[in-house]
Amino acid sequence: MSILVTGGAGFIGANFVLDWLAQSNEPIVNLDKLTYAGNLDNLASLQGDGRHTFVQGDIGDRVLLDRLLAEHHPRAVLHFAAESHVDRSIHGPEDFIQTNVLGSFRLLEAVRGYWNTLPETEKAAFRFLHVSTDEVYGSLSPTDPAFAETHRYEPNSPYSASKAASDHLVRAWHHTFGLPVLTTNCSNNYGPYHFPEKLIPLMIVNALAGKPLPVYGDGMQVRDWLYVKDHCSAIRRVLQAGRLGETYNVGGWNEKPNIEIVNTVCALLDEMRPRADGQRYATQITYVKDRPGHDRRYAIDARKLEAELGWKPAETFESGIRKTVAWYLANADWVARVQSGAYRDWVSTQYESA
Ligand code: NAD
Repeated sequence: MSILVTGGAGFIGANFVLDWLAQSNEPIVNLDKLTYAGNLDNLASLQGDGRHTFVQGDIGDRVLLDRLLAEHHPRAVLHFAAESHVDRSIHGPEDFIQTNVLGSFRLLEAVRGYWNTLPETEKAAFRFLHVSTDEVYGSLSPTDPAFAETHRYEPNSPYSASKAASDHLVRAWHHTFGLPVLTTNCSNNYGPYHFPEKLIPLMIVNALAGKPLPVYGDGMQVRDWLYVKDHCSAIRRVLQAGRLGETYNVGGWNEKPNIEIVNTVCALLDEMRPRADGQRYATQITYVKDRPGHDRRYAIDARKLEAELGWKPAETFESGIRKTVAWYLANADWVARVQSGAYRDWVSTQYESA
């Protein structure tokens, strides 16, 4: 058997593919459009590994989807592919609707068609796992309880609205058509291979380059952080034992204001790679105008996943952030290639389009 992953060249998808193949020999078919966020450099260690088949293509391409499903006969589809950056969704929401809403719909339809052709035992064992975000629940006040799975949907950005729409489609495909689905709603991830437009890698990269560290507004927006490999282990666990049609919140009980994250990154850099002039990296922090509609606080209540499926994160925030800073220091060439766009040239010599 095999599994089909969408978006497996992005941050979380690539971590998932690497983790999966480190723990199992079950092959992966990886469908990714390679937008600016998709980077096959993340998967360079799998060069020549017959367990990984990469296909460059769009989840909105029904003909391609039908062909891949028929050819590879997966026992599960894990749907990571998305436009994922909130700031970009404010400046250009259209791609978010195309991929996150229409693309997810096309994928669901293709998977439903494939699933209906499976023999009864395979049909019963099949899973469609949809990877989503806590941002669909909207924003919390400082005293509100953390988001449970029963929290109403209140998306505030074009990104979270498009993810909320896809969550609803997945739910409907289960209730209406019986498709065996699972949904995970996870808090902010951090870790290796994170594109340097996101908060933590941006701070590391800018700090090392001697550039300003831009912090939105007062920096007191609270996010709940999870090390990416813990997200991957949660997805594997939900795939293995999650109840059909259920959603599972995934989080590490690590609520932190953004400014604390930035200060932590600066302190770790002071320790691991002190500035040549003896100054502290925190002197590079610059407050910038807040983005419109910026949610104030997200917090995830992950008790359902912990109690029902026995999942627990392996990292604390302190251990995970230390590993992350160390990874960026050790992988300066990865960062340089992402920033120069050179990974695209490299990719074009490695793989053919579908
Ligand atoms: P990412 O932007 O790093 O990667 C997305 C990947 O999807 C890229 O490789 C991109 O090329 C691919 N892609 C985009 N449009 C596509 C299309 N039309 N067809 C095929 N491939 C396409 O995102 P990420 O941070 O790895 O997030 C992965 C998933 O997890 C997303 O669904 C996101 O909503 C969700 N999520 C992310 C976080 C987080 O903190 N990053 C938290 C919770 C949930």
